[in-house]
Amino acid sequence: MPGRVLVVDDVLPNVKLLEAKLSSEYFEVLTASNGPEALQVIERENPDIVLLDVMMPVMDGFEVCRRIKADPRTTHLPVVMVTALSDVADRVRGIEAGADDFLTKPVLDSALFARVRSLLRLKMMMDEWRLREQTSSQLGMLAPRAMTELDVTSARLLIIEDNAIDAVNMIESLAVDSDEVSRVETARAGFETAIRTDPDLVICSLNLEDDDALRLLSQFRANEATRHLPILMVGEEDQTEKLAKALDLGANDYLMKPVDRNELLARVRTQIRRRRYQELLRENYEQSLSLALTDSLTGLYNRRYLLSHLRRLMEDTAHRQKPLSVLMLDIDHFKPVNDTYGHAIGDLALQHITEVMRSNVRNVDTVARLGGEEFVIVMPDTQEGFALRIADRLRQRIADTPMALVDGRSLSITVSIGCAARESPDDDTIEGLMKRADTALYRAKNAGRNRVEPATETVGDAPAYGGGIVG
Ligand code: GH3
Ligand code: MG
Ligand code: MG
Repeated sequence: MPGRVLVVDDVLPNVKLLEAKLSSEYFEVLTASNGPEALQVIERENPDIVLLDVMMPVMDGFEVCRRIKADPRTTHLPVVMVTALSDVADRVRGIEAGADDFLTKPVLDSALFARVRSLLRLKMMMDEWRLREQTSSQLGMLAPRAMTELDVTSARLLIIEDNAIDAVNMIESLAVDSDEVSRVETARAGFETAIRTDPDLVICSLNLEDDDALRLLSQFRANEATRHLPILMVGEEDQTEKLAKALDLGANDYLMKPVDRNELLARVRTQIRRRRYQELLRENYEQSLSLALTDSLTGLYNRRYLLSHLRRLMEDTAHRQKPLSVLMLDIDHFKPVNDTYGHAIGDLALQHITEVMRSNVRNVDTVARLGGEEFVIVMPDTQEGFALRIADRLRQRIADTPMALVDGRSLSITVSIGCAARESPDDDTIEGLMKRADTALYRAKNAGRNRVEPATETVGDAPAYGGGIVG
């Protein structure tokens, strides 16, 4: 796994040692010898992970970490504190500053590589979400946030632990955040409960009496529903290798027994915060995506979506040698509706027509609002002759479904529809197809409205469909 690691330490031999280790595993290594320099390198070089010495003159590691995590641009950058102290209070302080993990000097290779790899994986996933979110939120309404601002309370946790005393201790410690904590004793129950309740975090003992915890971990990672579920492993002091293995298999973090209450809380909060940050990115992404591609009045796809969708469908149906038809609809005499009843009623009428259209096409058909009172329905795998029949049925349905007004009256609305199909698979364009549908629509208007007209006049020798002509 390639990755750029920034090593920060004020003692040069320490930097050289870590640099040598990491380079031997093909990581690209950047270095800095104090806090301010580290922040500059981060800004300039955009590393994937930071190994940060705690005790440094001018600005200590905690402060550097806090600054990284408070900046929305770097809040997702993993930070591992490297310290000579193995004091729990020190670790907790680091985690509260936002550190993702701790390594104790002298740094053991297995712990180092497993940690770096696991955090790099996480970083890549976050990068991908951040990228998607940024490309999609060009509407600029969704402010970027720092992970540290997120609330970590009221999370739902699942503990998989068969040692009753350890379990009770953890549950008591975790209760301060008023979390909902449930506990099971076996791997099987753990897996089933996780699937059923979708917790925010799983805390799993590495030493289940009757089960292989690493196997359970693989199972979590292999299953679609639990693939991204944060998992915190709890092992014993002498199990460094096994814990490193757990990280490689996809555990997000670990801690050692006897579990220190504050460390547990701090690590749990880090996981919850990260998960919520990811959820936020995903929600922003989905929301801005739907804002960019749908119309707010009707909820229908907009022109932008329609055109890109049509491009894909043109290729796909041509490739499969299937037909493709489009209907272009325009409401008849809509301006007088606005003039008579007001714009608000006009809007309701657009929503009403939308409902009728939606409930009268197949799932594979796409209904889009082209703009104003004009709509397009795209029908893949559909011949023009068949599309015409659907169009006329829809026209009829719209004419027969008046909109109820609040004062008890009702408002009848009709539409005119132009219908066109893709011609030869290879030399037809979206512009050509839409133009033909539009010309047909124009003809339907001229011929008296509340009608359907085909683009090709020879289709099925059919006369124009429409009010009074075909019932
Ligand atoms: P035709 O049968 O020839 O289509 O007549 P028309 O009155 O429907 O056509 P025209 O293009 O002259 O007028 C379209 C009207 O649609 C004008 C505008 O007031 C109305 N309209 C367009 N978009 C909206 C909208 O979002 N809400 C409302 N209420 N009215 C809209
Ligand atoms: Mg109109
Ligand atoms: Mg119009």
